Amino acid sequence: MMQKGQQKRIFLSSPHMSGNELNYINEAFETNWIAPLGPNVDAFEKEIANYVGVSEAVAVSSGTAAIHLALSLLDVKKGDKVFCSSLTFVASANPILYQGAEPVFIDSEPETWNMSPQALEMAFKEAFIDGRMPKAVIVVNLYGQSAKMDEIVSLCNQYDVPIIEDAAESLGSTYKGKASGTFGMFGVFSFNGNKIITTSSGGMLVSNDIEALKKARFLATQAKDQALHYQHSTIGFNYRMSNILAGIGRAQLEVLEDRVKARRLLFDRYNQKLGSIPGVKFMPELRQTESNRWLTALTIDEKVAETTIESILNTLSEENIEARPVWKPLHMQPLFKGVKYYSHSENTNVSERLFNTGLCLPSGSNITEEDQMRVIKCVKELLKIRV
Ligand SMILES: *Cc1c(COP(=O)(O)O)cnc(C)c1O
Repeated sequence: MMQKGQQKRIFLSSPHMSGNELNYINEAFETNWIAPLGPNVDAFEKEIANYVGVSEAVAVSSGTAAIHLALSLLDVKKGDKVFCSSLTFVASANPILYQGAEPVFIDSEPETWNMSPQALEMAFKEAFIDGRMPKAVIVVNLYGQSAKMDEIVSLCNQYDVPIIEDAAESLGSTYKGKASGTFGMFGVFSFNGNKIITTSSGGMLVSNDIEALKKARFLATQAKDQALHYQHSTIGFNYRMSNILAGIGRAQLEVLEDRVKARRLLFDRYNQKLGSIPGVKFMPELRQTESNRWLTALTIDEKVAETTIESILNTLSEENIEARPVWKPLHMQPLFKGVKYYSHSENTNVSERLFNTGLCLPSGSNITEEDQMRVIKCVKELLKIRV
Protein backbone atom coordinates (compact mmCIF):
# COMPACT_ATOMS: atom_id res chain seq x y z
CA MET A 1 0.00 0.00 0.00
CA MET A 2 1.74 3.21 -1.14
CA GLN A 3 1.00 6.42 0.70
CA LYS A 4 1.85 10.04 0.25
CA GLY A 5 5.02 11.07 1.97
CA GLN A 6 5.75 7.45 2.73
CA GLN A 7 8.88 6.64 4.68
CA LYS A 8 11.56 4.15 3.71
CA ARG A 9 10.42 0.56 3.98
CA ILE A 10 11.71 -1.43 6.95
CA PHE A 11 11.82 -5.10 6.10
CA LEU A 12 11.25 -8.05 8.41
CA SER A 13 14.55 -9.69 7.49
CA SER A 14 16.35 -8.65 4.32
CA PRO A 15 19.66 -9.93 2.90
CA HIS A 16 22.76 -8.36 4.44
CA MET A 17 25.82 -8.75 2.24
CA SER A 18 29.33 -8.24 3.59
CA GLY A 19 30.97 -7.12 0.35
CA ASN A 20 33.34 -10.07 0.19
CA GLU A 21 30.75 -12.18 -1.68
CA LEU A 22 31.81 -10.63 -5.00
CA ASN A 23 35.40 -11.85 -4.58
CA TYR A 24 34.23 -15.46 -4.39
CA ILE A 25 31.79 -14.95 -7.25
CA ASN A 26 34.50 -13.38 -9.41
CA GLU A 27 36.81 -16.27 -8.65
CA ALA A 28 34.09 -18.69 -9.79
CA PHE A 29 33.72 -16.73 -13.02
CA GLU A 30 37.46 -16.46 -13.63
CA THR A 31 37.94 -20.20 -13.18
CA ASN A 32 34.70 -20.97 -15.06
CA TRP A 33 33.27 -23.04 -12.23
CA ILE A 34 29.69 -22.16 -13.20
CA ALA A 35 28.01 -25.38 -12.15
CA PRO A 36 26.38 -27.12 -9.19
CA LEU A 37 29.82 -28.31 -8.09
CA GLY A 38 33.25 -26.78 -7.68
CA PRO A 39 35.77 -25.37 -5.19
CA ASN A 40 33.33 -23.00 -3.47
CA VAL A 41 30.85 -25.84 -2.89
CA ASP A 42 33.56 -28.08 -1.41
CA ALA A 43 34.95 -25.28 0.75
CA PHE A 44 31.55 -24.04 1.95
CA GLU A 45 30.65 -27.58 3.05
CA LYS A 46 33.89 -27.92 5.02
CA GLU A 47 33.51 -24.47 6.56
CA ILE A 48 29.95 -25.12 7.74
CA ALA A 49 30.90 -28.57 9.08
CA ASN A 50 33.81 -27.01 11.00
CA TYR A 51 31.71 -24.14 12.27
CA VAL A 52 28.96 -26.31 13.77
CA GLY A 53 31.28 -29.19 14.65
CA VAL A 54 30.07 -32.15 12.61
CA SER A 55 31.93 -34.61 10.39
CA GLU A 56 30.47 -33.47 7.11
CA ALA A 57 27.99 -31.28 5.28
CA VAL A 58 26.29 -31.45 1.89
CA ALA A 59 25.40 -28.16 0.16
CA VAL A 60 22.02 -28.25 -1.57
CA SER A 61 19.62 -25.96 -3.40
CA SER A 62 17.38 -25.24 -0.40
CA GLY A 63 16.61 -26.14 3.18
CA THR A 64 13.51 -27.92 1.91
CA ALA A 65 15.70 -30.09 -0.34
CA ALA A 66 17.89 -30.94 2.66
CA ILE A 67 14.85 -32.10 4.67
CA HIS A 68 13.66 -34.11 1.66
CA LEU A 69 17.07 -35.81 1.35
CA ALA A 70 17.10 -36.62 5.07
CA LEU A 71 13.69 -38.29 4.80
CA SER A 72 14.84 -40.23 1.70
CA LEU A 73 17.98 -41.39 3.55
CA LEU A 74 15.79 -42.65 6.39
CA ASP A 75 13.73 -44.51 3.79
CA VAL A 76 10.52 -42.67 4.68
CA LYS A 77 7.87 -43.77 2.23
CA LYS A 78 4.15 -44.25 1.67
CA GLY A 79 2.44 -45.66 4.72
CA ASP A 80 5.11 -44.30 7.12
CA LYS A 81 4.49 -41.74 9.81
CA VAL A 82 6.72 -38.77 10.63
CA PHE A 83 6.32 -36.61 13.74
CA CYS A 84 6.89 -32.89 13.16
CA SER A 85 6.64 -29.65 15.13
CA SER A 86 3.33 -27.94 14.36
CA LEU A 87 4.43 -24.34 14.95
CA THR A 88 6.67 -23.88 11.91
CA PHE A 89 6.89 -22.87 8.29
CA VAL A 90 5.26 -25.32 5.87
CA ALA A 91 8.68 -26.28 4.43
CA SER A 92 9.37 -28.40 7.55
CA ALA A 93 6.55 -30.77 6.62
CA ASN A 94 6.11 -30.55 2.85
CA PRO A 95 8.86 -33.15 2.22
CA ILE A 96 6.87 -35.64 4.33
CA LEU A 97 4.15 -35.31 1.69
CA TYR A 98 6.71 -35.56 -1.16
CA GLN A 99 7.53 -39.03 0.18
CA GLY A 100 3.83 -39.95 0.37
CA ALA A 101 4.17 -40.35 4.15
CA GLU A 102 1.83 -39.16 6.85
CA PRO A 103 2.72 -36.26 9.17
CA VAL A 104 1.69 -36.20 12.82
CA PHE A 105 1.94 -32.76 14.39
CA ILE A 106 3.30 -32.04 17.86
CA ASP A 107 2.41 -28.93 19.86
CA SER A 108 4.87 -26.45 21.41
CA GLU A 109 5.67 -25.86 25.06
CA PRO A 110 5.73 -22.33 26.50
CA GLU A 111 9.44 -22.06 27.47
CA THR A 112 10.94 -22.33 23.96
CA TRP A 113 7.79 -22.21 21.78
CA ASN A 114 9.19 -25.43 20.27
CA MET A 115 8.22 -29.11 20.34
CA SER A 116 6.67 -30.07 23.66
CA PRO A 117 8.45 -33.14 25.08
CA GLN A 118 5.25 -33.88 26.97
CA ALA A 119 3.16 -33.95 23.77
CA LEU A 120 5.91 -35.92 21.99
CA GLU A 121 5.86 -38.55 24.73
CA MET A 122 2.09 -38.86 24.41
CA ALA A 123 2.42 -39.31 20.65
CA PHE A 124 5.15 -41.97 21.10
CA LYS A 125 3.08 -43.88 23.65
CA GLU A 126 0.06 -44.03 21.36
CA ALA A 127 2.15 -44.94 18.32
CA PHE A 128 3.80 -47.72 20.32
CA ILE A 129 0.43 -49.15 21.40
CA ASP A 130 -0.82 -48.92 17.80
CA GLY A 131 2.32 -50.70 16.62
CA ARG A 132 2.98 -47.91 14.12
CA MET A 133 6.04 -46.00 15.23
CA PRO A 134 7.20 -42.93 13.26
CA LYS A 135 10.19 -43.29 10.94
CA ALA A 136 11.56 -39.90 12.02
CA VAL A 137 10.92 -36.86 14.20
CA ILE A 138 11.42 -33.39 12.67
CA VAL A 139 12.23 -30.90 15.43
CA VAL A 140 12.20 -27.21 14.57
CA ASN A 141 14.15 -24.43 16.35
CA LEU A 142 11.77 -21.54 15.92
CA TYR A 143 13.11 -18.02 15.30
CA GLY A 144 16.56 -19.25 16.39
CA GLN A 145 15.59 -20.67 19.78
CA SER A 146 16.65 -24.30 20.33
CA ALA A 147 13.99 -26.76 21.35
CA LYS A 148 14.42 -28.68 24.63
CA MET A 149 16.93 -31.02 23.01
CA ASP A 150 17.94 -33.02 26.11
CA GLU A 151 14.37 -34.14 26.70
CA ILE A 152 13.60 -34.67 23.02
CA VAL A 153 16.80 -36.59 22.26
CA SER A 154 16.27 -38.78 25.30
CA LEU A 155 12.68 -39.64 24.28
CA CYS A 156 13.70 -40.36 20.69
CA ASN A 157 16.56 -42.57 21.89
CA GLN A 158 14.19 -44.42 24.22
CA TYR A 159 11.88 -45.18 21.27
CA ASP A 160 14.80 -45.57 18.85
CA VAL A 161 13.51 -43.02 16.33
CA PRO A 162 15.99 -40.76 14.46
CA ILE A 163 15.79 -36.97 14.68
CA ILE A 164 15.99 -34.52 11.81
CA GLU A 165 16.78 -31.14 13.33
CA ASP A 166 15.26 -28.37 11.25
CA ALA A 167 17.75 -25.63 12.13
CA ALA A 168 16.82 -23.53 9.09
CA GLU A 169 16.24 -20.56 11.40
CA SER A 170 18.86 -21.31 14.05
CA LEU A 171 22.31 -21.29 12.41
CA GLY A 172 24.63 -19.63 14.94
CA SER A 173 22.50 -20.57 17.97
CA THR A 174 23.70 -22.89 20.71
CA TYR A 175 22.18 -25.29 23.22
CA LYS A 176 24.37 -25.96 26.27
CA GLY A 177 27.36 -24.74 24.27
CA LYS A 178 26.74 -27.09 21.33
CA ALA A 179 25.76 -25.74 17.91
CA SER A 180 22.12 -25.84 16.92
CA GLY A 181 21.55 -28.32 14.10
CA THR A 182 23.91 -30.97 15.49
CA PHE A 183 21.57 -32.83 17.85
CA GLY A 184 19.84 -35.18 15.44
CA MET A 185 21.00 -37.83 13.02
CA PHE A 186 20.64 -35.05 10.45
CA GLY A 187 20.65 -31.28 10.75
CA VAL A 188 19.26 -28.86 8.19
CA PHE A 189 20.19 -25.24 7.51
CA SER A 190 18.65 -22.79 5.06
CA PHE A 191 20.28 -19.90 3.23
CA ASN A 192 17.09 -18.45 1.80
CA GLY A 193 17.03 -14.68 1.28
CA ASN A 194 15.35 -13.99 4.62
CA LYS A 195 17.57 -16.20 6.81
CA ILE A 196 20.37 -15.00 9.11
CA ILE A 197 22.92 -15.58 6.34
CA THR A 198 21.89 -16.15 2.76
CA THR A 199 23.05 -17.45 -0.60
CA SER A 200 19.81 -16.08 -2.13
CA SER A 201 18.58 -19.64 -2.05
CA GLY A 202 20.30 -22.69 -0.65
CA GLY A 203 20.54 -25.21 2.12
CA MET A 204 22.86 -27.60 3.93
CA LEU A 205 22.45 -31.11 5.26
CA VAL A 206 24.84 -31.96 8.10
CA SER A 207 25.58 -35.19 9.94
CA ASN A 208 28.25 -37.27 11.62
CA ASP A 209 27.19 -40.22 9.47
CA ILE A 210 29.66 -39.93 6.59
CA GLU A 211 28.18 -42.89 4.69
CA ALA A 212 24.70 -41.36 4.81
CA LEU A 213 26.01 -38.04 3.48
CA LYS A 214 27.83 -39.85 0.69
CA LYS A 215 24.45 -41.26 -0.29
CA ALA A 216 22.91 -37.79 0.06
CA ARG A 217 25.36 -36.48 -2.56
CA PHE A 218 24.46 -39.40 -4.81
CA LEU A 219 20.71 -38.80 -4.46
CA ALA A 220 21.16 -35.03 -4.92
CA THR A 221 22.88 -35.53 -8.30
CA GLN A 222 20.21 -37.66 -10.01
CA ALA A 223 21.41 -40.92 -8.42
CA LYS A 224 23.89 -41.80 -11.15
CA ASP A 225 25.23 -45.32 -10.75
CA GLN A 226 28.96 -46.08 -11.16
CA ALA A 227 29.00 -46.64 -14.91
CA LEU A 228 30.34 -44.96 -18.03
CA HIS A 229 26.88 -44.80 -19.56
CA TYR A 230 24.00 -43.06 -17.79
CA GLN A 231 22.56 -45.69 -15.51
CA HIS A 232 20.06 -45.23 -12.70
CA SER A 233 18.53 -47.77 -10.38
CA THR A 234 16.86 -45.47 -7.89
CA ILE A 235 15.02 -42.10 -7.92
CA GLY A 236 17.36 -39.13 -7.68
CA PHE A 237 16.99 -35.36 -7.44
CA ASN A 238 18.72 -32.32 -8.87
CA TYR A 239 19.43 -30.71 -5.52
CA ARG A 240 23.07 -29.57 -5.46
CA MET A 241 24.11 -26.00 -4.71
CA SER A 242 25.58 -23.80 -7.43
CA ASN A 243 29.28 -23.00 -7.09
CA ILE A 244 28.43 -19.29 -7.52
CA LEU A 245 25.94 -19.36 -4.64
CA ALA A 246 28.35 -21.35 -2.47
CA GLY A 247 30.76 -18.44 -2.96
CA ILE A 248 28.15 -16.07 -1.51
CA GLY A 249 27.71 -18.51 1.37
CA ARG A 250 31.45 -18.55 2.18
CA ALA A 251 31.55 -14.76 2.52
CA GLN A 252 28.33 -14.79 4.55
CA LEU A 253 29.65 -17.40 6.96
CA GLU A 254 32.64 -15.12 7.66
CA VAL A 255 30.23 -12.56 9.16
CA LEU A 256 27.73 -14.93 10.82
CA GLU A 257 28.92 -14.10 14.33
CA ASP A 258 28.43 -10.37 13.63
CA ARG A 259 24.95 -11.07 12.30
CA VAL A 260 24.02 -12.97 15.45
CA LYS A 261 25.31 -10.10 17.60
CA ALA A 262 23.34 -7.56 15.57
CA ARG A 263 20.09 -9.53 15.82
CA ARG A 264 20.53 -10.11 19.53
CA LEU A 265 21.13 -6.39 20.00
CA LEU A 266 17.90 -5.60 18.11
CA PHE A 267 16.04 -8.04 20.33
CA ASP A 268 17.48 -6.50 23.51
CA ARG A 269 16.53 -3.01 22.41
CA TYR A 270 12.95 -4.04 21.56
CA ASN A 271 12.69 -5.86 24.87
CA GLN A 272 14.10 -2.91 26.80
CA LYS A 273 11.78 -0.37 25.20
CA LEU A 274 8.60 -2.44 24.93
CA GLY A 275 9.00 -5.33 27.36
CA SER A 276 7.52 -3.58 30.38
CA ILE A 277 4.29 -2.54 28.63
CA PRO A 278 1.39 -4.41 30.24
CA GLY A 279 0.27 -7.36 28.12
CA VAL A 280 3.53 -7.52 26.13
CA LYS A 281 5.76 -10.57 26.47
CA PHE A 282 8.86 -11.32 24.44
CA MET A 283 9.81 -14.81 23.29
CA PRO A 284 11.77 -16.41 26.11
CA GLU A 285 15.29 -17.77 25.86
CA LEU A 286 15.81 -21.10 27.59
CA ARG A 287 18.54 -21.21 30.23
CA GLN A 288 21.89 -22.48 28.88
CA THR A 289 20.86 -21.73 25.32
CA GLU A 290 21.73 -18.81 23.12
CA SER A 291 19.34 -17.92 20.34
CA ASN A 292 20.54 -16.13 17.23
CA ARG A 293 17.26 -14.16 17.58
CA TRP A 294 16.65 -14.60 13.87
CA LEU A 295 13.31 -12.89 14.35
CA THR A 296 12.22 -10.93 17.40
CA ALA A 297 8.88 -12.44 18.37
CA LEU A 298 6.50 -11.37 21.10
CA THR A 299 2.97 -12.00 22.28
CA ILE A 300 0.37 -9.40 23.08
CA ASP A 301 -2.49 -9.94 25.47
CA GLU A 302 -5.12 -8.08 23.48
CA LYS A 303 -7.35 -7.42 26.50
CA VAL A 304 -4.59 -5.97 28.66
CA ALA A 305 -2.96 -4.03 25.84
CA GLU A 306 -6.34 -2.85 24.51
CA THR A 307 -5.43 -3.50 20.91
CA THR A 308 -5.40 -6.41 18.50
CA ILE A 309 -2.55 -8.13 16.66
CA GLU A 310 -4.38 -7.34 13.45
CA SER A 311 -4.52 -3.63 14.13
CA ILE A 312 -0.83 -3.55 15.11
CA LEU A 313 0.11 -5.32 11.87
CA ASN A 314 -2.14 -3.00 9.83
CA THR A 315 -0.76 0.15 11.40
CA LEU A 316 2.85 -0.99 10.94
CA SER A 317 2.06 -1.80 7.33
CA GLU A 318 0.62 1.70 6.80
CA GLU A 319 3.91 3.04 8.17
CA ASN A 320 5.73 0.92 5.59
CA ILE A 321 7.06 -1.41 8.27
CA GLU A 322 6.99 -5.12 7.55
CA ALA A 323 5.87 -7.23 10.51
CA ARG A 324 4.27 -10.68 10.50
CA PRO A 325 2.11 -12.90 12.64
CA VAL A 326 3.77 -15.93 14.19
CA TRP A 327 3.72 -19.00 11.85
CA LYS A 328 0.25 -20.50 11.56
CA PRO A 329 0.50 -23.98 13.11
CA LEU A 330 0.53 -26.69 10.48
CA HIS A 331 -2.29 -28.66 12.12
CA MET A 332 -4.50 -25.60 11.42
CA GLN A 333 -3.56 -25.44 7.72
CA PRO A 334 -6.11 -26.50 5.09
CA LEU A 335 -3.29 -28.55 3.46
CA PHE A 336 -3.08 -30.75 6.55
CA LYS A 337 -6.79 -31.01 7.34
CA GLY A 338 -7.54 -34.15 9.32
CA VAL A 339 -3.90 -34.78 10.29
CA LYS A 340 -3.32 -36.08 13.82
CA TYR A 341 -2.13 -33.52 16.37
CA TYR A 342 -0.93 -33.81 19.96
CA SER A 343 -1.42 -30.72 22.12
CA HIS A 344 0.86 -29.86 25.06
CA SER A 345 -1.77 -31.16 27.46
CA GLU A 346 -5.46 -31.91 27.31
CA ASN A 347 -6.36 -28.32 28.14
CA THR A 348 -3.40 -26.36 26.80
CA ASN A 349 -2.81 -25.74 23.17
CA VAL A 350 0.38 -23.68 23.12
CA SER A 351 0.94 -23.28 19.37
CA GLU A 352 -2.61 -22.04 18.78
CA ARG A 353 -2.25 -19.51 21.60
CA LEU A 354 1.08 -18.30 20.19
CA PHE A 355 -0.44 -17.99 16.74
CA ASN A 356 -3.40 -16.02 18.08
CA THR A 357 -1.32 -13.63 20.17
CA GLY A 358 2.10 -13.51 18.52
CA LEU A 359 3.87 -11.32 16.04
CA CYS A 360 7.38 -10.79 14.65
CA LEU A 361 8.99 -7.36 14.39
CA PRO A 362 11.59 -6.26 11.81
CA SER A 363 14.78 -8.08 12.79
CA GLY A 364 17.28 -7.77 9.95
CA SER A 365 20.91 -7.31 10.98
CA ASN A 366 21.05 -4.32 8.58
CA ILE A 367 18.34 -2.36 10.38
CA THR A 368 19.75 0.88 11.81
CA GLU A 369 19.06 2.02 15.35
CA GLU A 370 17.14 4.95 13.90
CA ASP A 371 14.89 2.64 11.87
CA GLN A 372 14.34 0.40 14.84
CA MET A 373 13.32 3.41 16.93
CA ARG A 374 10.71 4.20 14.27
CA VAL A 375 9.25 0.72 14.76
CA ILE A 376 9.39 1.04 18.55
CA LYS A 377 7.72 4.46 18.49
CA CYS A 378 4.96 3.15 16.27
CA VAL A 379 4.25 0.15 18.52
CA LYS A 380 4.39 2.32 21.64
CA GLU A 381 1.85 4.76 20.24
CA LEU A 382 -0.43 1.89 19.36
CA LEU A 383 -0.20 0.61 22.89
CA LYS A 384 -1.17 4.08 24.12
CA ILE A 385 2.15 4.72 25.81
CA ARG A 386 3.82 8.09 25.35
CA VAL A 387 7.34 7.97 23.99
C1 LIG B 1 13.14 -21.33 5.73
C2 LIG B 1 12.73 -22.57 6.42
C3 LIG B 1 12.80 -23.81 5.79
C4 LIG B 1 13.06 -23.99 4.33
O1 LIG B 1 14.20 -23.52 3.84
P1 LIG B 1 14.30 -23.12 2.29
O2 LIG B 1 15.75 -22.91 2.09
O3 LIG B 1 13.49 -21.88 2.11
O4 LIG B 1 13.76 -24.26 1.49
C5 LIG B 1 12.50 -24.94 6.53
N1 LIG B 1 12.13 -24.85 7.80
C6 LIG B 1 12.03 -23.68 8.44
C7 LIG B 1 11.64 -23.67 9.87
C8 LIG B 1 12.30 -22.49 7.77
O5 LIG B 1 12.16 -21.31 8.39
